[in-house]
Amino acid sequence: MGKAMRSTVLAWVLLLFVLAGCSEVPITGRRQLNLVPQSLITSMSLQEYQQFISQSKVSSDPQQNATVKRVGTKIAQAVESYAKAHGEEGRIAGFTWEFTVVQDSQINAFAMPGGKVVVYTGILPVTQNDAGLAAVLGHEIAHVFAGHGGERMSQALLVEMGGIGLDVALKQQPEQTRSLFGAAYGLGSQVGVLLPFSRVQETESDHLGLVFMAMAGYDPHEAVAFWQRMAAASQGKAKPPEFLSTHPADATRIRNLQNLIPEAMQYYKPTAAAPGQGQSPTPTPGKTAPATTFPPATR
Ligand SMILES: [Zn+2]
Repeated sequence: MGKAMRSTVLAWVLLLFVLAGCSEVPITGRRQLNLVPQSLITSMSLQEYQQFISQSKVSSDPQQNATVKRVGTKIAQAVESYAKAHGEEGRIAGFTWEFTVVQDSQINAFAMPGGKVVVYTGILPVTQNDAGLAAVLGHEIAHVFAGHGGERMSQALLVEMGGIGLDVALKQQPEQTRSLFGAAYGLGSQVGVLLPFSRVQETESDHLGLVFMAMAGYDPHEAVAFWQRMAAASQGKAKPPEFLSTHPADATRIRNLQNLIPEAMQYYKPTAAAPGQGQSPTPTPGKTAPATTFPPATR
C-alpha cells in the first residue's frame, strides 16, 4: 500500500472509530467522544479515591456527614430515576455513590467517576444551607453522570495515540493507560487535585446540575446565590479559593445559570421536607410557606 493510500485508510478507520465512540449527553444533547469503557474508568477512579481517602482526614462531625449524605443521596436518587426513565442507566452502571466530608479548610469539592463525591469542610460556610450544598453536589454529580472524565481521557487517547492501538493501550499496556487516565483526569502526582474540566464541560455540568438539584427538590435559584457567594469569597483575596481555580465564578457563568433557571424550574418539585431541607433560607416563622410562591409555571 502506498503512503497516501495508507493514510487515507487510517483516516477512515479513525473516523469510524470516533463515530462508534460517540454518544449524546442527555438533556444538553451534546455529542461527546466516548472511547474508554466506563468499567475501566470506574475501577481506576476507585483506586485513586481510596488512596485519597487514606491520606485525608475524614470529618467526624455527625451533622456535617449527615447533611452532605442526605443532600447527595437525594440528588443521586433523582439522577438514577431520570436515567431509568430515559434509558440512560448505562451512564451510571456500576456506580456506588459515596459522599464523604473531608476536614480541610480548602474551599473545595469534587466527584470521581463511579460516584465518589468529596466535600471539604472549607466549602460549607459558602454553601450555607442544603440548597447551596445541592448546587455544588448537583454540579459535581453532573460531571460524573455526563462522563466528563472518560471524555477527557478519550480525547487524550485520540491525541496521543491517534486512536490507533486503543485495544493495545487498554488491554496490554495498563500502566500507560493509567498514566493517560492520570493526565486526563488530573489525579496522580497530587492526589485529590483535579485538573480543570474544559469550559464546555463546566457549562454542561452547570446546566445538568441545575436540573438535577431541581429534580431532587432544591430550588435552582439557590445555585445562582451560591455562585455569587463564591465570587464574593474570592474578593480581596490574593489566592482564589481552590474550587474557584477550577470553577471560575465569573459573570458569564452566573448569567448562564440565570438563563437556565426557567428550564430547571420545569423539573422542580418542592419537597414537603423537614425544616432546613429543600427550600432555603428556612422560611421565617409566621410567613406563608413557599409553596404558594414556587409554582414552576410562574417563575
Ligand atoms: Zn465543574
